[in-house]
Amino acid sequence: MKASKSHKFRQQHVSLPLGSSLVGWLAEDILAREPEGRDLSGTAVVFPGRRPALYLRRELGRLIGGPFHPPRIFDIDSFMAYTAGRSPGGSGRRDAGQVELLHLVYATARDMEADGEHLLLPAVTSSFEGFFFWGLKFLDLFDEFGTELVPPARIKQAVPSALADAGITEEARGLWPVLPGLYSKWLDALAGNSLWSRGEKYRIAAEHVDRLEWPFSKIYLAGFAALNRAEEKVFSVLTRLGIARVVVQDGPSPWTVNDVRWKHLERLRSVCHGTWDHQINRSPNHQFLHLHQGFDLHSQIHMAEDVFARNLEDRGKLAPDQEAVVLPRPEPLIPVLSRLFEDAAFPYNISMGYPLERTALARLLASVFDAQEGRINDKYYAPHYLAVLRHPYIKSLRLHSPSTSDQQITKSLATDTHRHTQTAQSTDQPINRSTDSSLRSVVHFLEAWLAREKRSFVRLEELEKAIAHLDEKDFPASQFLPHVHQMCFKAFEGLKKIGEHATALKSLLEWTVEYGAATGYPLSGEFMTAMAGLLDELEAGPVSREAASATGIHSLFCHLVRQTRIPFQGVPLEGFQILGFLETRCLEFQRVMIFDLNEGVLPPESRPDPIMPPDLRKYLGLPDKKQAVEISRYHFQRLLAGAGEIHLFFSEDKGKGRIRSRFIEELIWEAEKRAGRRDVIPIHGPVMFQRPGIPSALPVKKSLQVIDFLSAFTFSATALDTYLSCPFRFYAKYVLGLDAPDVIDRDEIDPLLVGTLVHDILREFYLPWLDREIQFSADRDNDLMTKSDMALEGTFGSKAEWSGSVRLFREVLLYRLSNFLRLEREHAQGHMLMGLEVPCKMDLNLGRGRKVRVKGVLDRVEKDRKGTVWVIDYKTGSRIQLPRATVASKVSGRETIKQEIVSFQMPMYLLLCDRHYGLGSGWSGINAALYGLRGLAGSSNLNALRAVLFKQGDSRDKIVKDIYVPALKAIIEEILDPEVPFAHDPSDFGHCRTCPYSRRLCKVG
Ligand code: SF4
Repeated sequence: MKASKSHKFRQQHVSLPLGSSLVGWLAEDILAREPEGRDLSGTAVVFPGRRPALYLRRELGRLIGGPFHPPRIFDIDSFMAYTAGRSPGGSGRRDAGQVELLHLVYATARDMEADGEHLLLPAVTSSFEGFFFWGLKFLDLFDEFGTELVPPARIKQAVPSALADAGITEEARGLWPVLPGLYSKWLDALAGNSLWSRGEKYRIAAEHVDRLEWPFSKIYLAGFAALNRAEEKVFSVLTRLGIARVVVQDGPSPWTVNDVRWKHLERLRSVCHGTWDHQINRSPNHQFLHLHQGFDLHSQIHMAEDVFARNLEDRGKLAPDQEAVVLPRPEPLIPVLSRLFEDAAFPYNISMGYPLERTALARLLASVFDAQEGRINDKYYAPHYLAVLRHPYIKSLRLHSPSTSDQQITKSLATDTHRHTQTAQSTDQPINRSTDSSLRSVVHFLEAWLAREKRSFVRLEELEKAIAHLDEKDFPASQFLPHVHQMCFKAFEGLKKIGEHATALKSLLEWTVEYGAATGYPLSGEFMTAMAGLLDELEAGPVSREAASATGIHSLFCHLVRQTRIPFQGVPLEGFQILGFLETRCLEFQRVMIFDLNEGVLPPESRPDPIMPPDLRKYLGLPDKKQAVEISRYHFQRLLAGAGEIHLFFSEDKGKGRIRSRFIEELIWEAEKRAGRRDVIPIHGPVMFQRPGIPSALPVKKSLQVIDFLSAFTFSATALDTYLSCPFRFYAKYVLGLDAPDVIDRDEIDPLLVGTLVHDILREFYLPWLDREIQFSADRDNDLMTKSDMALEGTFGSKAEWSGSVRLFREVLLYRLSNFLRLEREHAQGHMLMGLEVPCKMDLNLGRGRKVRVKGVLDRVEKDRKGTVWVIDYKTGSRIQLPRATVASKVSGRETIKQEIVSFQMPMYLLLCDRHYGLGSGWSGINAALYGLRGLAGSSNLNALRAVLFKQGDSRDKIVKDIYVPALKAIIEEILDPEVPFAHDPSDFGHCRTCPYSRRLCKVG
């Protein structure tokens, strides 16, 4: 031992009761040993985390009551770095960022492969893009090797048979022989570059701890629950030297049985030299425990609002040990802040690591990558394009930046080398300085335009052209949109290197800050800083020169943001404490509210490790992941034991796999066992309430203007079906004209693209037989191919430019349609083709001299060999809906019409066809069929694909005259009736889920 001022603790280590104040005890013990109490710099305190340092300094200040030199306070990571840094093997090393480490492990593996040491490495080291996933796993594993003091030699001895039954992936098993050599070379690479990782700091600290000089007379090792091997070595040495005093919290809480034994604490004691003073007794059972069961996080927060509303009015300034809101997973942070704290006047502190992945910023950059991944040549997939423009940071961009001159913007556009075309507006036309319009209206216009044009893929120049007419003196849309396109899309086209991507992303971030409202969002400063830090890492050093495809950089970026935590430190120390679960270690609070106490959250779910199976972990002496549950249980019980009032929130929804934490089950079980009866702890449920006060939930009355509008309205089957499903939705879409493009929103290619193309191809295919008999020729398939290629070229440009995915899409399309036509050939041969895509309109007499217009487009009309006229409709996406009504049906009122008619499409098409072709209402000679063109491949019978309106024996005349026509008139009468308001109908969950008005306008469904 070489302590500069040796001071052996007479009474060494202490086990305090679980519910005691560790920080309070420490402050008193430190001062008892320094009677003058003003210079405590000879003492060091090491906690497992950072936060207790703030509390200890505060408590010492309170007890001393004046200025003082505080003790040196470490968290364990910084203590190990301090120890390692004073060791011969650690001096001069610096911390490396995650990206730098990732590239270094890649370079190390690549060098090994170049040396021909391992034949299996080329598969993963052929590119950085292919390697980084394994690289991140290696880094985690090597850190664990470091903290658990696993030497390369031990790894080498690991028995391959331990892997044989382990169920790991082939690739990981193939990598196993690489690990000992790679780890050994990794340690050399770190030393050679004067870098270290967390694991390496721990390893060096443990290796050299018994040969160091210490500037402290005593070191408190306080509040630890379980130690890794490197920590055990440090604890063992420091206690053997008599310089360290270990303080733990142990024993039963009011919520555990008397003889609880925390095994990890027993092990901790076993590695420490010296005697123990056990001050353990049972904490008094004077606590108030409340369980709150919601069905999701939002209902938990809603119940918490109630707890907040009680008690808080008359509380003055809150001490930092009064109120804690604990979030075992960080995702609820933003809803908790906005619901509980936004309007409250209480100060609060956040102390937790928030995942960068959860931020709007990360979502914006991910959307930009999606757009590049989905791009085919210079055409962007419309949903991806809109996802970028709809992002709040982009949508709220101002067309004028207060900090940027007109000339700057103009210059930026003029010097844009990626712009391929000029819009009608010249770039030398200055942006009006008074302009302050946001991009919002442009986005809405483009959404509607894309939906109307049924465009799945679109060129940016086409969109710029489409909005040209929106230009006004104070609204230079056509000048601003190209700038948006440049920053969000074109700047990323053709990039090959990781550094280039990082630079483009940084420019995009800076631009959103300069022009947008990005900085106005809560915590956006911290989010921006963290993201900029990550991009700086990708932009600098050798990693920046690595090649990466759009998919590769997207994947790398996603992995990195998933791992990046934004550290909120929670200073100054006052008000409510909003803490992550581990940040509660060593602290106690009078009132504790813990959210999300569900299985998989607390204790956390343990995921299978793709490299290190459980058997092998055991062989290498690595801790079993099950120990993590026991340690979480300890921290949970310790936190509860120190609190006076406890509120535990959880969700129960077995259908969605949400079940309450086993820790709650244990609390209930223990309480019932002690009381000898059931239901000892009441569980509060969410208060269900109506929302009569929400104006959007009230039915909308029809004003005179609305009645006028409706009288002149031309009713389509789609409009009537919308009304049947929900009158309010009809009102929003057709009366207010809020035609939200719900179709374009779907993140799949089929419905829109297949729908448009199939209709186009089939129209072209049947066109030669218009007004003639259908006669399929032998080279039907060639004909289909020609027609299909023409339609595809109309959408994707010339064949030579088609990407792989367009070619693949063509194959699927041809396969489906040729199957359809194979079946059609049997059925439609010899039918007289009367019409293709026939637009029809007619007046419908409602009686008493009133009439309305109805309209529709008939995909195909033909007369079969028996003289029956068929109205045929192709369906490529939505489910097939036919009326159920029989002659016995009653059709009065929307509800019964909805049940019986289901959809007005076929009934209306019959009427329109009859009128258009002058068939004279001979209903027995007309029928309708819906052809479902989805999933055609395996069908061998056309009837499996088509749904026919009238079956054999149906009284068609009666059904049309007595059911369809009266129902049609009744529903239109109801729409026109001034006394019947537009009410909400949330009865169909599926319908509300896809309703574009459900989030903002409606709030009922
Ligand atoms: S969400 Fe449901 S209730 Fe609300 S408007 Fe849409 S369909 Fe109607």
